[in-house]
Amino acid sequence: MSAVDIGQAKSTDGATFSERLEVLKEKVKALYLSDNTPWTIGYSGGKDSTAVVQLVWISLADLPVERRTKPVYVITTDTLVENPVVAAWVNQSLDTMKGAAGEQHMPVEPRLLTPDVENTFWVNLIGRGYPAPRPRFRWCTERLKIKPSNRFIESVANSYSEVILLLGARRQESAARAHGFNERDKIAVRESLTPHPDLVNTLVYTPIEDWSNDDVWTFLLRVSNPWGYSNKDLLSMYRGATEDNECPVVVDTSTPSCGNSRFGCWTCTLVDEDKSMAAMIQNDHEKEWMLPLLEVRNELDFRSEAARRKDLERRDFRRMGGHLQYYRDRNGEAQLIPGPYTQPAREYWLRRVLAAQRIIRDDEYAPDYVRRIELITLDELEEIRRIWITEKHEVEDLVPRIYEAEMGEPYPGANRPVVDLFEGELLEFLNEACGGNRVRYETARNLLVIERRYRSMGTRRGLFKEIEKALKAGCFESRNEALEFKRQEAEIQGDSEGTPAGKQIREDLPEYLASYDPN
Ligand code: SF4
Repeated sequence: MSAVDIGQAKSTDGATFSERLEVLKEKVKALYLSDNTPWTIGYSGGKDSTAVVQLVWISLADLPVERRTKPVYVITTDTLVENPVVAAWVNQSLDTMKGAAGEQHMPVEPRLLTPDVENTFWVNLIGRGYPAPRPRFRWCTERLKIKPSNRFIESVANSYSEVILLLGARRQESAARAHGFNERDKIAVRESLTPHPDLVNTLVYTPIEDWSNDDVWTFLLRVSNPWGYSNKDLLSMYRGATEDNECPVVVDTSTPSCGNSRFGCWTCTLVDEDKSMAAMIQNDHEKEWMLPLLEVRNELDFRSEAARRKDLERRDFRRMGGHLQYYRDRNGEAQLIPGPYTQPAREYWLRRVLAAQRIIRDDEYAPDYVRRIELITLDELEEIRRIWITEKHEVEDLVPRIYEAEMGEPYPGANRPVVDLFEGELLEFLNEACGGNRVRYETARNLLVIERRYRSMGTRRGLFKEIEKALKAGCFESRNEALEFKRQEAEIQGDSEGTPAGKQIREDLPEYLASYDPN
């Protein structure tokens, strides 16, 4: 059905889409004028949230300028690992929106929100060693998307005592979404407004909740984008991003399951493969410069047997705190629950990301807007450097060296290391003295760092605890030695399930094994 046909097609109540649109515009205007509560629209750049911004814009444009008094914030989260094509598209849209809002005297204020530097994808993965997100350990969405937008919404609610959040959610997206709407309708406080389940003083309004996919595209293609952006280009982006050229479900900040969409992160391992990026590259030769990104993403994945083994090799056999935890596998054998990425693995990932960045920058066929692409920002590099040195005692201070080796240019961060470091050669001697044994070396180094740190402190409180922790973490020199110990301990204690974390794993063993089973 063509856009024009749909516009005139009648719904079950006998109204055409154009007629329903006029009714909706009146409702949006009435709601806007009904109080002084500011509005915030979640805008991902996808079709549904674009439709909401467009709907609000054209509705408020009917009002006299002096009545457009309430601010309408348009918020977008940039996870810093967005698909670069989409990120460029959305950033450009926000810039255009800002200019048009000024010219047309619209109360629209676009805001681009990013995660705190200590919460970004690479700081957690390369800095702390969190494994790439997986169903049982999905640490990313909350940190990268939900927190930045919630923080902004809360700040508006605090300033104005209340905020109305407009989202592009629709009943037709899925049965679960439709059920959510039905439950929500029961708690509406005012017509069309329901309290946000987590955010205080925040009411949610979903103006296009009853629209179909066709309604959304009809609206976007029949009504000119009021801030002067191209909705036709948006349609082409959808087409270019999927293998079968169909428009998939869009996901904005209101929908945490964002991995399936091109509006998600290029690093996402929550989906079997990044079909949208693969399809972009396959369907459009001009996007081949993104291949290095796809390769990094695929290497982060852990799904095949070979990838699982590789993932296990890269993970510490100790948990983040240095202790051991185990579970019983399907044969009843005790197995260690893997911990964070090891120091060599984290260094490897940093090299890998910087190498991809350099390849893209050097690609003569890449578009201008990626010529200075930053897959990882300087702030993130400095935060990773801080975590490695101060939290993990990795005083080798390798971030600047890795950067210079991979980028072929001087490290742009602080010249001076953030803590008092050892002379370079001392660590090499130490490594030699430990016979190249990684655990022995790291334990000796960590003890030296702790000793040196406390030497300059006024109080020694906590010193023995830190020394004990370092010694405990270093008491097994290999994975096998640690595993043997845990197996014997389990036998003596007659424990048939494992440590508390292991017991939890046992409850849904199949899913756990799909990600980790070393057998
Ligand atoms: S797109 Fe994937 S990696 Fe990004 S926040 Fe969503 S689930 Fe996490």
